Amino acid sequence: MSTALKSSRNMEYDRFDELRRSIEDYESVKHTIKTGLQDREKIARQKEKIMKKLGASEEQWNDYKWQLRNRFTRAEDIRDIIGLTEDETERIRKVTEKYRFAISPYYLSVIDPDDPDCAVKRQAIPSFEELNEQGELDPMDEEGWTPEELVTRRYPDRLIIKVTNICGMYCRFCQRRRLIGEHDTHAPKEKLKKAIDYVRNNREIRDVLITGGDAFMLDDATIEWMLRELRSIEHVEIIRFGTRTPVTLPQRITDSLVDMLKKYHPIYVNTHFNHPREITEEAKAACEKLANAGIPLGNQMVLLCGVNNDKFVVRKLNQALLTIRVKPYYIFHPKTVKGTSHFWVRVEEGLEIMESLRGRTSGMAIPTYIVNGPKGLGKTPILPNYILFIGKDKAEFRNWQGRRFSVRNEIR
Ligand SMILES: *Cc1c(COP(=O)(O)O)cnc(C)c1O
Repeated sequence: MSTALKSSRNMEYDRFDELRRSIEDYESVKHTIKTGLQDREKIARQKEKIMKKLGASEEQWNDYKWQLRNRFTRAEDIRDIIGLTEDETERIRKVTEKYRFAISPYYLSVIDPDDPDCAVKRQAIPSFEELNEQGELDPMDEEGWTPEELVTRRYPDRLIIKVTNICGMYCRFCQRRRLIGEHDTHAPKEKLKKAIDYVRNNREIRDVLITGGDAFMLDDATIEWMLRELRSIEHVEIIRFGTRTPVTLPQRITDSLVDMLKKYHPIYVNTHFNHPREITEEAKAACEKLANAGIPLGNQMVLLCGVNNDKFVVRKLNQALLTIRVKPYYIFHPKTVKGTSHFWVRVEEGLEIMESLRGRTSGMAIPTYIVNGPKGLGKTPILPNYILFIGKDKAEFRNWQGRRFSVRNEIR
């Protein structure tokens, strides 16, 4: 071997050592942040307990309608399953007088009964802090951007249709708390028809997002009817669904649902995982079913204090999502919705997470961090600054490790 080659090999050895060292902090803690797959035995034990309590069969458990009918809505009923104290139970009861509470038996089984700060529990089980009066009911002014009932249109070429206010589980940080009343309702067909007519009458709408509540709370027949109507509109190019069912009610993703959806391609599904623990056997199967039907899956995480405001939790989550064929799409900075102030985080925390992802994991695992402008100013991307200087003939940057470089910034 030539001396030159040898010394370049030695240099490269150091170089790779440096790469390895740049993620050794993550490597040393990642096993402590368990996915639902990694904690499957405990989740299976919880499932057994809940099934026994409800006298349920495996077949019932796997039926999403059974899961919906058997959602828990009272603290007393889940107390023994997740080990709530008497104090906690009483507080939850108080909160549920004001805000809707429901959790599917499945999602309840994912809560770690040994961890009082479990990230799944924090998302699903009411907290006394919800009675804090800070924040607004509708900080995004959705009401002000409604050209037709059910429709929110904030952008030129796309809009959302809110088809229901029902969910498999009512997230404690819900941005549409104002619409989640005591009464579960799907939008009546006449109103859906009017929303679709709005799309038909506005030729620049090429992307329709069906959401809620949870879009997949509609039954297959209603979803198919909407898809057929939308596909009869020539200018509609893509149709997206916003649904948390792969996370909170994976039994909803049935063979018949995906066989129907795939007739109306291009269809996209954006779902909402917030923590690695939510990636269970069932959630994985649901996502794979959708992906196998040719439906690209995106994840819209919400950055939440006490759930995922931790760079290693987010790294683990995003890497695990890619293994179940879900592409991290957005990280949303939490909105200042009334009753959710205990979930708020500072912008610096989100920026630190974004900084720690770039370079240290697959670009595929790096979503866009979004802050929503108040009053409907819209989704605005924020990212750490990599630009140091842009001049007449050169531009200067820093890379993910903080090394500076410049590129020529004049053509010819
Ligand atoms: C989030 C949102 C969309 C979709 O935004 P994308 O950036 O295209 O994913 C569309 N309309 C409204 C009103 C929204 O809030």
